[in-house]
Amino acid sequence: MDTVDTLIFAGWLLPVAPENIALTQYGVAIANQRIVAVEPNETLAANYQAEQLFDLRDHIVLPGLINAHGHAAMTLLRGAGEDLSLQAWLNQTIWPLEAEHMDAEAVALGTQLAIAEMLATGTTTFSDMYYFPEAIASEAKAAGMRCQITFPIIQFATAWSQDADDALHKGLALHDAYRHDELIRVALGPHSAYTLTQKDLERVAMYANELNLGVQIHMHENAQEVAGAHQQIGRSWLALLRDIGLLSPQLQAVHMTQLTSEEIDWIAQSDTRIVHCPTSNMKLASGTCPVATLRQHGITVGLGTDGGASNNTLDMFAEMRHGALLAKLAQANPEHGRAKDQIKMATLDGAKTIGMESEVGSLEVGKAADICCVRTNRFASQPMHDAFAALVHGGAGCGVDHVFVNGTCVLRDGTLKRIDKDALLARTQRWWQSRFD
Ligand SMILES: [Zn+2]
Repeated sequence: MDTVDTLIFAGWLLPVAPENIALTQYGVAIANQRIVAVEPNETLAANYQAEQLFDLRDHIVLPGLINAHGHAAMTLLRGAGEDLSLQAWLNQTIWPLEAEHMDAEAVALGTQLAIAEMLATGTTTFSDMYYFPEAIASEAKAAGMRCQITFPIIQFATAWSQDADDALHKGLALHDAYRHDELIRVALGPHSAYTLTQKDLERVAMYANELNLGVQIHMHENAQEVAGAHQQIGRSWLALLRDIGLLSPQLQAVHMTQLTSEEIDWIAQSDTRIVHCPTSNMKLASGTCPVATLRQHGITVGLGTDGGASNNTLDMFAEMRHGALLAKLAQANPEHGRAKDQIKMATLDGAKTIGMESEVGSLEVGKAADICCVRTNRFASQPMHDAFAALVHGGAGCGVDHVFVNGTCVLRDGTLKRIDKDALLARTQRWWQSRFD
């Protein structure tokens, strides 16, 4: 018998790859942070002994979820600026509040709150774009969570950077500091084409090429943004990015609610990645990303919650549900937005969107053991005709009770192992009272 670190016996196992199917009475063996076997429970029990055993035969086990776009610390602005359009929300509420309240300490607190919520609802990897990325990296490191930190590049002064030059300088230093980290990857985060000059965007393209870095950018979030581009530069922002050579598999374009068929062809030909944020797009009435058309063109689409102020939760199961319902409504066709496709977008396609598909996104031998386990002994999941539908439409975020990142159990029986929940909630309450009460 081989000895492994951990054995998980599951009732249902969704590997996502090589096939996006629901296996019954299958489990996973973990050794040295990696998945070493995905086999029937009986076979695992016969072949392996483990230091830790998780008998989860009343659970669905799937890859840890990947939140491909967000601003973690914005959890502290949850509920501020409700019911406004994107431009009014940014200009009248979010940017002034951020300027006044978001120092490094607040970013650390908001990020910890976000990480706690994400881990507790099954997310094991998140992508972030926010000021004080050093604080975000420290919090992720302390919590043992995997992430892509895209440092924010914006032409005007913020609490973190004077201008785009300063942001690049500080962000590249952070990239150097985490160059060899196994969980934290630092990438470029130009906020948007409308908050940067063409020269700045060209420098982003140069660094992306030279250092082989991912680039995440808000793009074509609503019609007003695209109309502004036509007024200012006589073409769309996406056309500008194409002209300066930014369209590539390294580019992660977030939102993309406004796209011509010619632009969809550019995206497909360049293998540019898309992040769909259905809740944020619906809440700010920004528009609808044509996910069905993009996927038909073979384009990789991941899912993201966006920040806590425009969602307001970071529960990726809720995001999948909204994505599914929006796809059905947008296409006036219930065959779109299948639960199975939502699971893939929130796992393997999300990993591919941020360039991590060789490490995570599926339960396959050799991959890092990032795993989410969801209870099925809940009212909303019984009876279970379809495990995918139970996850996407059954409020499964509330049923997550074990989560593993890189083989380490960071949520056990619903309790976060590295974050003191009561202390975090008390600190959050104190911060809010000191600033707003
Ligand atoms: Zn965003």
